[in-house]
Amino acid sequence: MPTTTRFAPSPTGYLHLGHAFAALTAARQGTRFLLRLEDIDATRCRPAFAAAILEDLSWLGLTWEQPVLRQSERMGAYAAALKVLKSRGLLYPCFCTRADIADEIARSGDAPNGPDGPRYPGTCRHFSDDERSEKIAAGIAYALRLDATKAAAAVGPLSFTEFGAGSAGETGRIAVDPLLFGDVVLARKETPSAYHLAVVVDDAFQGVDLVTRGNDLFAAAHIQRVLQMLLGLPEPAYAHHRLILDAAGKKFSKRDRAVTLRSLRASGLTPEDIRDRLSSARQGIS
Ligand code: GLU
Repeated sequence: MPTTTRFAPSPTGYLHLGHAFAALTAARQGTRFLLRLEDIDATRCRPAFAAAILEDLSWLGLTWEQPVLRQSERMGAYAAALKVLKSRGLLYPCFCTRADIADEIARSGDAPNGPDGPRYPGTCRHFSDDERSEKIAAGIAYALRLDATKAAAAVGPLSFTEFGAGSAGETGRIAVDPLLFGDVVLARKETPSAYHLAVVVDDAFQGVDLVTRGNDLFAAAHIQRVLQMLLGLPEPAYAHHRLILDAAGKKFSKRDRAVTLRSLRASGLTPEDIRDRLSSARQGIS
């Protein structure tokens, strides 16, 4: 049975009731509970939010193993993983801006949707090595994308284990769709990494064998399982949990100041009150 689980918030705002539910759920599942701050996006993450996360989780009564892993300190590990994928011919540089991608999608009139919106139409996949070198030499900024079709061929049929609620109750061994996200970005123009790459590298580094997180990230397990296989990383199991909803039936949002743990605490609520509120919110779980 898996034993090591984690909570991996991004310090882009204060924790709210949804995070409290996620952190308490994760901490209950394993015998080892780890914390990771997913702070690679320097434009959105703030040290003050990172400090507040640690404080709010402690206030809730949670404890975790030290050290806390900060993704901003792990760029070398992500670069090494990119090098492996590059040497296998599975990455290509993408010079497109958001506007280029939107134009190409509008032009082709054919944009299959992935979990994060329309899939990348593949514009830069078709460049020759010479064309790529020319653009790079001209100083055009580029992201690195996974060639999902090549990756699918490289990994063959794959599956992952879901112990949690899964998406729409899918549990057990779930067949991976390696093309679900299309040619996903693994390194951004401004940051030499991106979410899916950093997560798989760090879950393996931290020895996480049970990835516990909300159902909104269920689809991510498909591409993350592919990356684990390509990088020769161990396979964790997954326990995606249901999301708690606000009174209007919507997901809590970082923009909704009223439900941050800070403001609830300032209004006099205790950690026990928060736990009670989360268990009564369970009826609203979707
Ligand atoms: N950092 C992600 C978030 O805050 C969670 C990543 C994960 O649990 O895999 O939504």
